[in-house]
Amino acid sequence: MDLSQLSIFDTANPLQYNLLTVTPSGIYCAAGEFYLDPKKPVAHAVVSHAHSDHAVKNNKNIYCTAPTKDLMNIRNPNKKSTEVFHVKEYGSPFYINDVRITLYPAGHMLGSAMVLMEYDGIKYLYTGDFKLQPDASCEPIEIVSADVLMTETTFANPRHIHPDADLEIQKLNNLDARNILIGTYAIGKAQRITHLALKNCPDKIVMIHTSIIPFHHLYKAHNYDLGNWLPYSRNLFKLSDNCIYIVPPYIYHRYKDNSKFHSTFATGWDWFYKSASVRLHISDHADWQDLQVLVEKVSPKKILTVHGDGRHLQYHYSMQGIDVGILN
Ligand SMILES: [Zn+2]
Ligand SMILES: [Zn+2]
Repeated sequence: MDLSQLSIFDTANPLQYNLLTVTPSGIYCAAGEFYLDPKKPVAHAVVSHAHSDHAVKNNKNIYCTAPTKDLMNIRNPNKKSTEVFHVKEYGSPFYINDVRITLYPAGHMLGSAMVLMEYDGIKYLYTGDFKLQPDASCEPIEIVSADVLMTETTFANPRHIHPDADLEIQKLNNLDARNILIGTYAIGKAQRITHLALKNCPDKIVMIHTSIIPFHHLYKAHNYDLGNWLPYSRNLFKLSDNCIYIVPPYIYHRYKDNSKFHSTFATGWDWFYKSASVRLHISDHADWQDLQVLVEKVSPKKILTVHGDGRHLQYHYSMQGIDVGILN
């Protein structure tokens, strides 16, 4: 047998890229004995960002950025748990067992990270949630190369192209004179929308629901000043017709059909718009074009997809000879 040929064959064999496996608790790295964004509490969790579908409560050891730690602690104020945080800087490698790990900004929200894992001479990049659009409310994305790319595919469909966020929010300046209720997720999106609204709608008063305010303060503590927003004032809202009021989803759904004010929800999903006054297509996830840019820059030999539907990506890259494994 020609052994040199065998080793070349083995290097190209996708089965060699088996550092990560999908288990009921989430994506598991056996060599490092840790999970990436586990769905259930585990002993060692690398957490990409503070959204609740990535950062479950009561992991024992949590490896994440400082803002992610602080946001998780606000979300979980009454915890009796024994969570131990291992705060990591972007770009500073650390080890969990024999796996070398480096966090890079994912551009998704404050503190969000892509996770580069190096083991046995092979680089694996897990994106978590990410976006390429400019966003002054968080660290800009930093893309590094890897042999294996594990990417989210929330909007991995050629029909999903996100418009410019500044232009989207400027639509609010053209509505008839009524206050505007904007529903957003409380962490990440609410802060981005606050900043965008203050920048693009200078004549409007931007008010924030009380449940979101602690997150705004935390952004400021991490040097992301969102501008001159105000806590919600019922009197001001009643007396005025040029307020933008940013609220979490449950408040939005309670009041969205009230015709005294406009209402809209900031998202990339169409189905939120049935009763909205105006579509506010602003997403913190990569669109189809962003995914192409990501793949070009990472330049992987293999792609694995998580979150959403990986089939379009699989079809697209199979035409270019890149193997795409769908894990979602
Ligand atoms: Zn997220
Ligand atoms: Zn997510």
